[in-house]
Amino acid sequence: MRLPPFAPAALCTLTLAAADTGPTVAFRLRVPEGQPRRAEIEARWVLKGQAISVAGWGAEQFPEGWSKFMKDVQVTGPDGKARKLTADGKGAWTVDAATGTAVTLTYAVELTHDREAWPHGLDEAAYAKPDAVFYTGMALFITPDDLESGTVRVELPKGWKASLPWRPVAGQAGVYAVSSYDELVSNGLMLGTHAERVFQEGAFRVTLAVGGALKPSMPMLEKVMKPHIAAYTRMFGSVPRADYLVTLHEGLTDGGAFANSYSLLAGEPLTEANLIDWGHLVAHETFHLWNGTGMEPKVQMDWFKEGFTDYFAILTMARLGLIDECLLTKKLESHARRTFDRAQGVTLAEAGKNKKQNWGFIYGGGAMAALCLDARIREASGGARSLEHMMRALFRDFGPGRKYELKDLIAAASQAAGKDQSDFFARHIQGGEPLPVSEALKVFGFDLVRNTQGEAFIRASQEPKMKAAWLKPD
Ligand SMILES: [Zn+2]
Repeated sequence: MRLPPFAPAALCTLTLAAADTGPTVAFRLRVPEGQPRRAEIEARWVLKGQAISVAGWGAEQFPEGWSKFMKDVQVTGPDGKARKLTADGKGAWTVDAATGTAVTLTYAVELTHDREAWPHGLDEAAYAKPDAVFYTGMALFITPDDLESGTVRVELPKGWKASLPWRPVAGQAGVYAVSSYDELVSNGLMLGTHAERVFQEGAFRVTLAVGGALKPSMPMLEKVMKPHIAAYTRMFGSVPRADYLVTLHEGLTDGGAFANSYSLLAGEPLTEANLIDWGHLVAHETFHLWNGTGMEPKVQMDWFKEGFTDYFAILTMARLGLIDECLLTKKLESHARRTFDRAQGVTLAEAGKNKKQNWGFIYGGGAMAALCLDARIREASGGARSLEHMMRALFRDFGPGRKYELKDLIAAASQAAGKDQSDFFARHIQGGEPLPVSEALKVFGFDLVRNTQGEAFIRASQEPKMKAAWLKPD
């Protein structure tokens, strides 16, 4: 079974297909006419290893994982006869056929995921709406464990369209190429009669797929995404991938980022008035295309992945003029409060081990750690460099396929500051010392006021210090 992205066994999944690696699989994904909640999958390949499985993460709440929603799993050989399949009951099977046998795997996925509880949110599983169905690749695909690449042929009911994160294969209508296991499984897709629009921003080609009552939100989504992509591309110096899909439908406001797609749900149409809610989600998930899926940690480092992403989402919204200084200070206040409200004895480094309990501290504490480090780097370098230099260097050195560790963050921070920063990490990330939030805010022209009732307020100080430089991009 494929392991979660943090496990070393998954490190090879980004490599392209080569003759001596795993097989190339030809998938067919078919939604039958009149049965929107059913997907029929067929996969054909020449057997190398005998193990096939669903993704080993994302549906941990069920003993059988993603296979809970898969029916009639069958493998046949070139003679059309069924081959013996031994199931482990957890979403993995062993095929009783020799290496070199051309096999065909068939099964159906019943889209009833939206009738279950999902700890990460429905946006990371599958849902059906009157005009569209949404799936993640993990909800759909059983693959050979050694899969390296493949194609997906999509067959849909009349009048439906496919909004996909994959590249069309030239000359083959309805066929798409996937160059890695992650690209197949760690992505979202939308099928139906929803609205679709494609826009280009620099090297990015973004497909927006929007359904239901949110269709009129398409221009707002594009308006906010475009300057964020431009700002993040400037910050990181390059883009991790060129094609992205963003899906948006009605639901409890939430978002999930995948290899080259992200999925959003929103409770009401996206407008200027509620931008503080959905705009943050867009800014956050877009940043994950670099810090999240564009570069990944070797082991759990949620405080960095989520917290630094939240920090830059807030800062970029302010820099782009999407939120004013009043909303900026409110955002900083709520993140600061989450930092002060952490559970006794929990460090930022360890917080991600219990994401549910430490959710607020991971995002808020992580964002405040970014703020503190930004202030330190700017002060140490006399304003010449900032946290953006650290992020850029990390993305350059640990982009797709290479994973960073804590020591790499310390090295990048020290290099940006021009001064060793290991003490900051030892005390405030690995250790439980409170973050120097007040001192950092002062560097950016704000005063922190806390009272004994647990309230925290941020107000503009008399000394703006580095505020102007902070609010304009490097
Ligand atoms: Zn996130």
